[in-house]
Formats: sequence, C-alpha cells, structure tokens
Amino acid sequence: MALSFSAAAKAEVCRGIPQNHCCALAQCFGILLFCNSFSSDSIKIITESRDFAYILPKLFKKAFDLTFDCFPSLAAPGKLVFQITDPIKIGEIMEAFGFSSEDTLSLHINLPVVEDDCCKGAFLRGAFLAGGSVTDPGKGYHLELATTHFAVSRECNVLMQDVLGFYPKTAARGGGQVLYLKQSDQIADFLTYLGAPVASMGILEARLEKELNNKVNRRCNCDDANISKVVEAAQEQLSAIRILQEKGLLETLPAKLKQAADAREKNPAASLSELAAMMDPAITKPAMNNRMKKLVQMAKEAAK
Ligand SMILES: [Zn+2]
Repeated sequence: MALSFSAAAKAEVCRGIPQNHCCALAQCFGILLFCNSFSSDSIKIITESRDFAYILPKLFKKAFDLTFDCFPSLAAPGKLVFQITDPIKIGEIMEAFGFSSEDTLSLHINLPVVEDDCCKGAFLRGAFLAGGSVTDPGKGYHLELATTHFAVSRECNVLMQDVLGFYPKTAARGGGQVLYLKQSDQIADFLTYLGAPVASMGILEARLEKELNNKVNRRCNCDDANISKVVEAAQEQLSAIRILQEKGLLETLPAKLKQAADAREKNPAASLSELAAMMDPAITKPAMNNRMKKLVQMAKEAAK
C-alpha cells in the first residue's frame, strides 16, 4: 500500500535520530507532550507510522537509557501501541524534564529543554511525529499538531512563532488543543523546517498546479463568454434581416445595407471583421458594426 501524504512526511522526518543528547531529549519531550497519554501513571504512544515506530525505542534509549514496557512488532497491522507503566521509569523521565512525579497536573514546555535552536527543531519534530498530521495537498491545505495539554499548545504556539515567524491557529477539540496551519506556504515552510523537503515540495507543486488549472479555467470561461456574445449578436442580426424581408423592406435598403444584410444571411457564424472584409469595397469592423446596428434598428421600427 502506498504511504499517505502524512505518513510519507513522517518517514522523511524520521530519517536519522538526533546526534546530540540534548536534541534526543528535546525530541522525546515533543513526542511525550503530543502523544496519547503522558502522566505519572502511564505513558502511551499510539502511531500508524512504521518509520516513527522504528526510531521510537532508539530515541528513548538515547535520551533516557530505558526501554518500553510494552512495544509492538513492526510487522503487526494497524495502529502500534508503545507503553511505559513502570513508575520508576516514568519518574526518571519526568525528572529529566524537570517535573516531579507527584506534580504532573499541568505539564508544560520546560523552556531549558528547548533553549538551543537545535533542540527547538527536535522538539517540533517529536510533536509532529506523535501528534501531527498533514493532509494530502490535492485534497486541501491542513497541517495540525494535537495535544491534550492546554499550556503546551499555548507555549508551542509561541515556539513556532519564534522559529518560523508566524503563529499557527488554535482550536479546542475533544478536550484537547489543536494547533493548525491552513496556508500552503506556511505548511511548506514548517515541513522544510522539520526536515521534510520532499513533502514541502509536494505542497508547493500542488499549489502551482491548482493555480495553473484556475488560470486555464478562467480563460476558457472568458472565451466561452466572448463566443456566446458573438453568437447572440449574429442571431439578433439574422432575425432583424428576416423581419425586414417579411415586411418587404429588404429590397428597398440602400446598397451598402443590402450588401451587409446579404453577407450576414449567407455567413451566419462569421465575425464582424470577417463580414467587413467581404464588403466591396472592404470596410472596417466598426463600420460593419454600424451597418448591423442600423439593420437591427430598422427591423425594430418595422416591427412596431
Ligand atoms: Zn540540541
């Protein structure tokens, strides 16, 4: 099965785990604050991304030198669940981030953990892997990060403004908080920042394609409108000529008008310029337009 756009972006973000211990810690922090459950009772990370599942145990080993109490086989179908339930391990993790195991009611982004620029990127990569998703740009522009911790969404908002230069939008959803981006260029910037330049390019290409299609559609609509205007005008002229004929006026027309009426009758689909060229001597398009107007006007008077 082909990877979804989101899964492909995550696979890109997962290429390589951080070299520095500070960054491994920061990435785990992002994962934990945006994962399914992070409390003094248990840690639960659920993911469909095989690439994320592959690096997750390595990251925790590097950051905390500990293993998951429950981890799935990568070959298992569907969602994969990673868990830590051992209170000693959870205590060690909490401590690494400056929390005590008793005081976990309001988790927040402990700023020293994401102080360095390298760690800011690692933190946001972790947040995206655990709580993020990005919509296939063919269907729409949407990237989001979801967390169950209110303070974390507020602080992450500031962090993203700091590194990207723009604030994401925020919304409450199902007791949690969602940070999201809706603008294609912002989504592309964020993906590039996370280390997913291919996904970023995918967003920009989709936008370019959409813009091109819009332009082509606009031009088609415009051409159609012009063509129908020409057809409408020709029909009005033809019916005018028919009225003049019925009233016996066609033969009494001045030579110039008679010539114009004959040309229109024989060439119902011709443009004004084409008709003008058929006159003997040839005349200009505005002059042809005048003759046609006169024919229509005379027919209207005759029909009264
Ligand atoms: Zn770092």
